[in-house]
Parts: sequence; structure tokens; C-alpha cells
Amino acid sequence: MKMPSLNTQILLGAIVGVLVGLYFHQLGAHHHITQNGLYASGLIGTLFIDLLKMILIPLVFCSITVGIANLRQHQKIHRVWITTLVFFAFTTTIAIILGLAATNYFKPGSGMQIAMFADAMQNFKAQQLPLPEFFAQFLHGLFMNPFTALATGNVLAVVMFALILGIALVVGGERYKNILVLLQEGLELTMRMVGWVMVLAPFGIAALLIKLVATQDAAMLSTMAKFMTMVIGITLLHGVVILPLLLYLITGKTPLWFWRGARESLITAFATSSSSATLPVTMRCTTEHLKVKPEIAGFVVPLGATVNMDGTALYEAAAALFIANLVGVDLNLTQQIIIFFTAMIAAIGAPGIPSAGMVTMIMVLQSVGLPVEAIAILLPIDRLLDTIRTVVNVQGDMIGSLVVQKLTDKT
Ligand code: ASP
Repeated sequence: MKMPSLNTQILLGAIVGVLVGLYFHQLGAHHHITQNGLYASGLIGTLFIDLLKMILIPLVFCSITVGIANLRQHQKIHRVWITTLVFFAFTTTIAIILGLAATNYFKPGSGMQIAMFADAMQNFKAQQLPLPEFFAQFLHGLFMNPFTALATGNVLAVVMFALILGIALVVGGERYKNILVLLQEGLELTMRMVGWVMVLAPFGIAALLIKLVATQDAAMLSTMAKFMTMVIGITLLHGVVILPLLLYLITGKTPLWFWRGARESLITAFATSSSSATLPVTMRCTTEHLKVKPEIAGFVVPLGATVNMDGTALYEAAAALFIANLVGVDLNLTQQIIIFFTAMIAAIGAPGIPSAGMVTMIMVLQSVGLPVEAIAILLPIDRLLDTIRTVVNVQGDMIGSLVVQKLTDKT
């Protein structure tokens, strides 16, 4: 019998994961089958993420350096830079406007009492992170000793160093040919390893989803149902309608074509809730299935994984207004504009790891004087919402690379 394709296996893994997770949820947390099952799925899920993270840093380092070096050879670097940043800024702006508009319209939280959450809020200690400090920290984190960045897995700092190294390699020209060849071979090798890790993906994804579904708190979910439905609805609107529409208008590629090529990565993003951990898979989908040239994908995708987060931006804006409704504060236009900008900075600054958006959310709340403790209300539902916003974050990077390729390909 022929084995189903990896794509099909991953889809099956996701479905099995959700079903088994629901079964464990039914059995209850104290049942021995649930406990053993959750232990096993914890092990497999963590192993899968660890393997992805193992490849992540060498991959980002090689792919950005090689990408920049190749772009320079084609004299395209300037256009690629600008197009990428404009596209990222444009889609993030749409996402935030969507978040603000929907929350203003549906007003989730206005009928609820914040007193319901008093306990949770009392036990919550927020790390204070005002905007200027956040910005200073962000800037400070951009450049660091490359060995520290590589060793501690600081993706953004690795991206910055690799960018500069790539430029130096090209300016140096022939003299550094060997190093460039070495990095090119390093990139090929890491992609080969990604291929091996993907064999595990169906199991890893099933395991992660079992754990996610089995450990949800049903009572909490029903209290927050309106807000969650709204967030999921607008995130899907952005991911299923707006981004594919942009892709279609600019490149003529259909949503179905995109889904076929991208689904390995989108499902992995859903299960891991981490753009960074998904990055090796995203690179593979973009270069191998969506046929984006390695020099474009190698630059746009790793950069996007750390700074381009439409799902996160949309969520932070919506959640800030939700909290304002809960505490009965009416935010005026100026305050909403402040939320717009802080949500954008928060999304750029959030690292691509699970619930990173919750940490930068603190800054958004503070910018308009909302109580930071209210994060405690959002935390229990965050794991669930994080799945889908991470999918849209990753999707934006892949669509970005297709759009940038199309718009810069005229030479
Ligand atoms: N988990 C998201 C990501 O990795 C970030 C967030 O928490 O919004 O893209």
C-alpha cells in the first residue's frame, strides 16, 4: 500500500490530535488514561518542538546571509527591502483596523462584570513595561555579540547580525567566496535536516493538539465565548479573505494553490503556537512548495517570523478595547489611535513564541491607562487564541514572500 503524502499525514495527525484530546477531556484530568496519555503526548510534542528549535538558529543564520549575498549579486537588495517592509506595515495596519473596528461594533465585555475576575486579578503580578522602556529594550536587543545571540537563540539579534554579515560578504566580493560557499552548503544541510524532522511532524502535531484540547477549562471558555468568537472571526477574516485576496490581486495565485503549498507550515503553526519553532517548516514550504526563490524567501520569511505578526497585532488591539469595556472605560479616538500604534509596536516586538503577545499586551494596556492586572482575565483563554493568531502570523510571512517576489521580479 502506498503511504499517504506528508501533507495528508499532517492533516490526519491534527484531526486525530483534536479527537483524542476531546476524549481525554471527557474522561477528566484524574483518569489514569488521561494522565498517561498527557504524559506521553507531552514528551512527543516537546521533542518535536525541540528538534525544530535545534535547526532554527543555524537555518536563520545561513539563510539570511546567503539570501542577502545573492540579492546583492542581482542588484535587487534595495527594492526587496523596501517592498518587504511596506507590505508588512500595510497588512499589519489592516489587521489592527479590523481589530479595532470589530470590537467597537460588537462591544464584547460590556455586559460582563469585572468583579467576576477579581480573584484572578488579585493573584496576578504584572511586570511593568511602559512604552519608552519597551522600545529601548527592543532596540537594545537588536544588536549583540553574535555568539551570545546564537547561543541563547535570540532570533532577532541573529537576523540583524546575519544581515550585516551578508552585506559585508558581498562588499568583500571574490575574496570571501569560500565563506559564502560554506554558508550556502550549511543552508542546504539544514534544509535536509528539516526534511527529516518533518517525518515526525504528524506525531508531534497530534501530540501537541491532544495536550491543548484536553487541558482547556470549559467553564472559562463559555464565559468568554463572545469575545473569543469575535477574535476568531476577525482573525479568520484576515487570514481567509484579506491576505488571500491581496495575494490574488498581486500575484494571481488562488487561495487553494496557496493552501496546498502552505498547509504543512500552517498546521505546524497552529499546533506549536510559535512562529519561530515553525520557521524551518515555513522555509521549506515557501521554497519547495510555493516556489519562492531562496534568496527572497531566505530574507523575507525569517525577518517576517520575528517582526510581522498580523494575528498578534489584531488581537492586541481587540483585547485592549475588550478590557476597556470590562472596566467600563470609554476610549476616545485619540486613545484608540494610541492603541493602534502601541499594538503595532507590540506585534513587532513580540518574539515568535507561545503567548508572547500577552507580555507585550501589558504595554498596550498601560499606554492608555488600563489596569494591567486585567491580563489575568485573558491568560486562561490565551493558549487557545494563540493557535489561530500564530497561523495568521506565519501566513502573512509566506504571502509576503510571494508578493515581494512578484513585485521585485521585473528586472
Ligand atoms: N505565538 C505568537 C507567534 O509565535 C506570538 C503571540 O503570542 O502573539 O507568532
